[in-house]
Amino acid sequence: MTAVLNPATEETLADIPPAGVEETDAAVARARAAFPAWRAVAPTDRARLLRRLATLVEEHHEELSRIESRNVGKPIAGARGEVGMVAQVFHFYAGAVDKHHGETIPVGGGVDMTFREPLGVVGLITPWNFPLNIASWKLGPALACGNTIVLKPAELTPLSAMRLGELALEAGIPEGVVNIVPGKGSVVGQRLIEHPDVAKIGFTGSTEVGQQVMRGAAGTIKRVTLELGGKSANVIFADADLEKAAAAAPYAVFDNAGQDCCARSRILVERSAYDRFAELLVEATRNVKVGDPEDEASQMGPLISAQHRETVASFLTSDVRIAFRGEAPKGQGFWYPCVLVEASPDDRIAREEVFGPVAALIPFADEAEAVRIANDSAYGLSGSIWTRDGARALRVARAIDTGVLSINSNSSVRPSTPFGGFKQSGFGRELGMHALDGYSEVKNVFYSTEG
Ligand code: NDP
Repeated sequence: MTAVLNPATEETLADIPPAGVEETDAAVARARAAFPAWRAVAPTDRARLLRRLATLVEEHHEELSRIESRNVGKPIAGARGEVGMVAQVFHFYAGAVDKHHGETIPVGGGVDMTFREPLGVVGLITPWNFPLNIASWKLGPALACGNTIVLKPAELTPLSAMRLGELALEAGIPEGVVNIVPGKGSVVGQRLIEHPDVAKIGFTGSTEVGQQVMRGAAGTIKRVTLELGGKSANVIFADADLEKAAAAAPYAVFDNAGQDCCARSRILVERSAYDRFAELLVEATRNVKVGDPEDEASQMGPLISAQHRETVASFLTSDVRIAFRGEAPKGQGFWYPCVLVEASPDDRIAREEVFGPVAALIPFADEAEAVRIANDSAYGLSGSIWTRDGARALRVARAIDTGVLSINSNSSVRPSTPFGGFKQSGFGRELGMHALDGYSEVKNVFYSTEG
């Protein structure tokens, strides 16, 4: 049995029997058997089933939010927002089913047309930081395209995905179409990657495991979508609304206790505004309420595990220049405070993903240097630019090598807009109509009209 913990209290929430290779193979076989009938469901009926799932998520909003909050240690207010997005994602893909069109292409001697065909059985491997959200980003487009699914949630946080699997059945999605298989990544995940009947792996997690997914997928030429780590830059120019940028910056790093691939954990500030901005940022960070996730007022909960807390702490070596260190509860739970550090672009803290509530403040001289530092990273997932100069905002947005950028805002994820990385942050796009391309193949058919 695997004990699933509440990271805020260290209490056991559930004991889950971990699946092995045999259970994984059985799930793949169920998904394979369900595929012909599921792909043949009329688009309007598939849309109706997805819409019903979205409605069930709405009806179970509080229940799902509580599960997510307890299992991940997320403040309940944030968990509610995330579950709200899960429903929106299924609504979006219900609407997308019959809008992912083929084309007709002018050719001589007949008619040429393209179809979007489902891939078959897809393996989805999801992380512990946004378990239900990230599951929905993959399930929505995969189901809309007519694929069947085996989803392996993270071992630490399987509860919300398991409940979602039950809701999918209740919505009328046929048995075998959505299979949730909790177990170890090295066992269930690895088997999905190798399994000859799995056509694609949709993965979110670390860059290291992403490399293993890619290597393993080569054996059967599986399709892969990888959404990996990040070390995103929040670039603040001196002409920005500094008060607004500083008020928003803590949430952009400390939300989900910094365990967010989009965390803007490098805060780049134009030197002439650095002191003023740092002062405002420290003040805003001091106000982040770290505490019991079930408390409506809490803004930051604990880290996911004791082991992860050790990893986060290992970044704060004695040579790191700490500008501010907040407070966190003591005692039970994997608590860690918000930390701001002053850094140079070459420091470890400015280069590696901490995946915790630690932000690095880095000064820059001018626009060219801001772009150079922002791009001096193996990652390229997200980021923000704060300036009142519209032309500069667009110039810098085009120059930064990253998949998702916000101007005068830190929000990067919406059901209808594409999300994904450049460089070692991965490839393929989730969300929006773009995600459908990753869960379908284009088939080209020529029909001769010659007599
Ligand atoms: P992992 O990449 O280890 O885990 C992500 C998922 O992959 C989990 O479901 C995990 O299963 C599974 N997995 C692990 N090993 C394998 C394998 N060999 N084959 C197939 N699947 C596997 O991330 P961690 O949870 O360990 O976090 C480590 C770091 O990864 C974080 O500190 C952060 O830097 C980054 N990360 C990035 C995320 C993002 O959103 N981009 C999300 C989570 C982590 P299991 O639960 O059994 O480990």
